[in-house]
Amino acid sequence: MQTETITMKADLQEKLGKRPIIISGPCSAETEAQVLETATKLAKTGRVDILRAGIWKPRTKPGMFEGIGVKGLPWMAQAKKITGLPITVEVATAKHVEDALQFDVDMLWIGARTTVNPFSVQEVCDALRGVDIPVLIKNPINPDLELWSGGIERLQKAGVKQVGMIHRGFSNYGNTEFRNAPMWHLPIEMKRRFPEMLLICDPSHICGSRALLQTIAQKSIDLDFDGLMIESHIDPDNAWSDAKQQVTPERLAEMLDSLIWRFENTDQKEFLTALATLREQINHIDDELLTLLGQRMKIADKIGVYKRDNNITILQTNRWNDILGRAISKGDKLGLSKDFITKYFDAVHLESINHQNKIMNE
Ligand code: PEP
Ligand code: MN
Repeated sequence: MQTETITMKADLQEKLGKRPIIISGPCSAETEAQVLETATKLAKTGRVDILRAGIWKPRTKPGMFEGIGVKGLPWMAQAKKITGLPITVEVATAKHVEDALQFDVDMLWIGARTTVNPFSVQEVCDALRGVDIPVLIKNPINPDLELWSGGIERLQKAGVKQVGMIHRGFSNYGNTEFRNAPMWHLPIEMKRRFPEMLLICDPSHICGSRALLQTIAQKSIDLDFDGLMIESHIDPDNAWSDAKQQVTPERLAEMLDSLIWRFENTDQKEFLTALATLREQINHIDDELLTLLGQRMKIADKIGVYKRDNNITILQTNRWNDILGRAISKGDKLGLSKDFITKYFDAVHLESINHQNKIMNE
């Protein structure tokens, strides 16, 4: 038993050194047959390095399937025995860690809903003290890099030697094309902070549906991620959790086959990463500018109400000259031409006037 465990650990080391690392398996372990059949088919693709399954599932609403629990661990151990592949499960409490270790789980991961809570991360870390097992930590649900970094630091302080990161996107309000927005500049910043650390992309939880998986997987590869974690199920439509985003082992193999892995040229890699970082920064700044412009117009609306109630004209030439003069001189210091500032402020001013006109005539 002892030797077997040591051999498997050595195997995992080899896998963790490989690029790209592919982790796959069902969102949740459901039945013994489902785990074993999925694992066997995934192993048969020859593309999967580590098997995953959720044993304890943090679900948004009570009454949803909350994981099969400890009962699923022997199924995973059996899957490892049959396929020879190392296994990984999500842990959120000290008891989860203890149970997983009992069944020779080779690697652990901390889920997004756990990373947000320093109490939980610390509890997991305390349970890991003195245990030699790699741990991957997913980004927190909210776009807070300090929380993600903090989780990594807690693991390192607890003596975990191999820590890796999983990018699974960030929760945002309302409907967007993603279940969790990728916000690529955030994992890129983590890569800058922890350049030697394994960085895996989880397109399944970013996309929330099968349609975009391939695009997101490719994008992460182009950004020099070290591998992928993709959920796979023998009967995705009837999965007990995350049915829309899982793919069959066959489809997974097809997808992995058509991805283009870019490593050859380091210059190109650095170029792509730098370009993506800068573009994300521009997107971010543009978003902020638009938000601020929206806020500016709301204030103009309020002024419009005062002007209307006090019978004052919309256009007050002195005030406008004052604004423009200030902007041109500030713009000059920031390297912005007079021509640009004048055009930009004319457009902003016109929009303000239109807003106030509407209020005057309501
Ligand atoms: C999962 O991997 O099945 C999972 C629960 O993911 P996340 O923590 O990213 O929501
Ligand atoms: Mn899932």
